[in-house]
Amino acid sequence: MRITCPHCGQRGLEEFLYHGDATPQRPSDGGATPTVEWTDYVYLRDNKNFAHEELWYHSAGCHAWLRVTRDLSTHEIQDVRQA
Ligand SMILES: [Zn+2]
Repeated sequence: MRITCPHCGQRGLEEFLYHGDATPQRPSDGGATPTVEWTDYVYLRDNKNFAHEELWYHSAGCHAWLRVTRDLSTHEIQDVRQA
């Protein structure tokens, strides 16, 4: 798999670190948020079988955080942009 970094161009997967699903929204009010909402945010993820957004870090390149839209059934990368 190759990722096209908006700064560096097309690079091999070994230059990037995967940091998971980019779609969960952090609870907004810190310590006042009920524990169940934090548990959902930190631990619960849906199993997806279609395109979804992921966070990737270009660790061996420009050190940019990227939002990558990837189809999980085919691994086709559909979009890459600055996070
Ligand atoms: Zn880069």
